[in-house]
Amino acid sequence: MEEDMIRRKAELILGGEVRIPAGYRLPVRISRSTAGPGAGSRGIVLSFHGMRVKKPICDEGGDFELVPTEEGLRLERGGRTFIERVELEPVIYHSPGQAFFNLDQRCDFRCLFCSSPSLGVEATKGLTPERIAEMVAEAAEREDFVSAALTSGVVGGIGETVERMARTVELIKEKVPWATVGVEPYVDSEEQLLRLRDAGADEMKINIETPDEGIFRKVCPDLDRGLLHRMIEAAVEIFGRGKVSSNIIIGLGESDASVLEEMERLAAMGCAPGLRPLKVNDINRGQLEEALGPLPGIDAERLLRLGREQKRIMDAHGLDSRTFSTMCFECGCCDLVPFRDF
Ligand code: SF4
Ligand code: SF4
Repeated sequence: MEEDMIRRKAELILGGEVRIPAGYRLPVRISRSTAGPGAGSRGIVLSFHGMRVKKPICDEGGDFELVPTEEGLRLERGGRTFIERVELEPVIYHSPGQAFFNLDQRCDFRCLFCSSPSLGVEATKGLTPERIAEMVAEAAEREDFVSAALTSGVVGGIGETVERMARTVELIKEKVPWATVGVEPYVDSEEQLLRLRDAGADEMKINIETPDEGIFRKVCPDLDRGLLHRMIEAAVEIFGRGKVSSNIIIGLGESDASVLEEMERLAAMGCAPGLRPLKVNDINRGQLEEALGPLPGIDAERLLRLGREQKRIMDAHGLDSRTFSTMCFECGCCDLVPFRDF
């Protein structure tokens, strides 16, 4: 049963939109993400069997359908029951339990999979460090509040972006000293990591993005892979084992062997690798296919297989997703999370 549900989670993550039946009023606020795989879309969080998935919603078409029943809600696919009982879980900001803010959806860099800089709306306008700290303080009053987190595109230089993030962490910690705060910056010096730690950041996420050097050069032309590895190593020294994580995107044409090698490399440094299935959308499809050719697609089998390897590797290096209480390991909406989901 459990194995079946994990497979359902994998299929749900990889599948398309969820249709909301006409006339059904959602009892939760719709999440409008400006970062992550759901950037630019309206989304809801479905929870089932202790797991959760964030899905974009639509009024017509779609891959899945939410069906109200006497007992609650059922998720169907192609007119058949996909998950008998699902619940709608509220997000605080972006994520259930978390006040997770994108400081700026614009970015000076051009990672081809990333939709944030292309969002037409000034989605993060007005989100000053002061305003974010106030919003975290309000969110911290909620019973379901777990933590706060910050991400950001790089705007006006790496150093300036990190400083804006550090300042925001400081203001959050002034208002809610007990809140755990996670940060997801692009950094290029150890001093920036120390600045973020001294500001009060508890957890760090530095994304390596892809395990394949050739793919990396094509999809992250402005990032430096060697630097990312050095920063991850330094981050583990500064924030500690089990407090640093890094996303590896699956579905850009990388081999399983390269994913395993990268996970081993990160875990050996004390950094927990996260596996993030690529989300292809109208914003990133053209530019990804131009650079990489036709995209291979991902099936649930591969996600499950690599997920089991991820768990084995983390375990062998004494790493566990439950040492994190911020960002994607805590949220679990976009990935299979070892030690939590399976
Ligand atoms: S550094 Fe790359 S992934 Fe991060 S926001 Fe900028 S373009 Fe997107
Ligand atoms: S798993 Fe990460 S990217 Fe996905 S909704 Fe949660 S916090 Fe955002």
